[in-house]
Amino acid sequence: MSSTTETSPLRVAIIGAGPAGVYAADILTKADREFDVSIDLFDAYPAPYGLIRYGVAPDHPRIKGIVTALHKVLDRGDIRFLGNVTFGRDITLEDLKKHYHAVIFATGAIKDAPMNIPGIELEGSYGAADFVSWYDGQPDVPREWPLDAQQIAVIGNGNVALDVARVLSKHADDLLVTEIPDNVYQGLKNSPVTDVHVFGRRGPAQIKFTPLELRELSHSRDVDIVLYPEDFEFDEASDEAIKTNNQVKTMVNTLTNWIVEDQDTGASRRLHLHFLHNPIEILGEDGKVVGMKFERQELDGTGNVRGTGEIIEYPIQAVYRAIGYFGSELEGVPFDERRGVITNVGGRVVDADQQHLPGLYTTGWIKRGPVGLIGHTKGDALETIGNLLEDSASLPTPEAPSEESVIELLEQRNIEFTTWEGWNKLDAYERELGAKATESGPVARERVKVVPREEMVSISRAK
Ligand code: NAP
Repeated sequence: MSSTTETSPLRVAIIGAGPAGVYAADILTKADREFDVSIDLFDAYPAPYGLIRYGVAPDHPRIKGIVTALHKVLDRGDIRFLGNVTFGRDITLEDLKKHYHAVIFATGAIKDAPMNIPGIELEGSYGAADFVSWYDGQPDVPREWPLDAQQIAVIGNGNVALDVARVLSKHADDLLVTEIPDNVYQGLKNSPVTDVHVFGRRGPAQIKFTPLELRELSHSRDVDIVLYPEDFEFDEASDEAIKTNNQVKTMVNTLTNWIVEDQDTGASRRLHLHFLHNPIEILGEDGKVVGMKFERQELDGTGNVRGTGEIIEYPIQAVYRAIGYFGSELEGVPFDERRGVITNVGGRVVDADQQHLPGLYTTGWIKRGPVGLIGHTKGDALETIGNLLEDSASLPTPEAPSEESVIELLEQRNIEFTTWEGWNKLDAYERELGAKATESGPVARERVKVVPREEMVSISRAK
């Protein structure tokens, strides 16, 4: 079926220019194959890098540094970036089938997993993913974020909960060295917060943090860590986890050392870590969050928990649920509503009967769910690209495979798409803003992010 010849390369569209999409493009470009490939990498944002630009906390420069590697891949010139193009609106699955032999969905997971407890809809109850989007200057979230709570609850014991708790509790001046947008700095600067409480529903040996990220909590200036001895319960499964898993062992050691050392230095802000607290209700008055109710849990021997019936209440004025991300359905693409992923087998998109939909593939968080570090998506991409290459002889033949035909389509629809050249302009502009802020401000800033979408597009498309 496939029409690839020596003169017409295999045309592949990748939807999502985050790490998952870029890794897939890179692996496909470098793969051992007997035909040429030509890849278009689409993104709904005007800028590339997805989760790294809009998901990694600003005070994690080491992770943000992955951008350097992704930049090198895209700068080679053999992968075409087309930004500010939203799948399902600006370009549909039918359009893509017309122009490409294969489409790889790498759209990640950017929404919060739902949490169904009474009071979740109250003013002051937020999803961590939305807050992350705000502090990372994602163009589609409102610029203002209400930061008026003194006592805040963060629900969940994963790294996103740590990011959110750390950013909420840090003094804004200590974030200024990062690339946070000015409005984020101002918002955090005016925050009256004194206490951030992180609540895990299981025990200290069941946390999903990673050691480096946990230890980092103790590096925030003028923020004390507070722990509660009654939360330190370990069952057989915990002992086994500590014995067999180095990460768990290190983290339990860190937590117990903190308890032994007593972290009270009289700091103006505190970050509390609570375990064995299952959230059961967010309490409200006049539609606003005023507290939170938990049921104390006990470990059941297997590392899971059961309720003890003891109810504990905390005065809280804001709640951030960091209980995991969730993928969004894409028009026309089979979706597993329960897991929030595109239905697939090894990255081949399949229908309800497990039949592969020819030419459709997926990789990254939208393929396997929102768990794992950025590097893990490389393994995903290897599998997906391996399967795509295996199928290459039988891929459907597109009607209009030329590289120009897609550009013509976007132009006909007046889509203000951005390019790699455009990103380089925006990148330079943001760095220049950073240099100016460094000259006039108290700290060195590498870049200041441009946030409004129109401004990003107009700088990227400037002649
Ligand atoms: P995660 O690691 O899966 O953690 C989710 C947490 O939410 C778990 O502690 C889970 O508890 C808890 N939870 C789930 N449902 C709950 C409920 N109904 N009530 C109370 N708690 C509930 O997810 P994540 O934090 O979103 O992170 C996603 C991935 O990104 C992870 O692999 C993470 O390591 C990675 N990441 C890394 C960094 C970094 O700096 N390296 C930063 C951010 C994210 P149970 O275990 O009991 O289910």
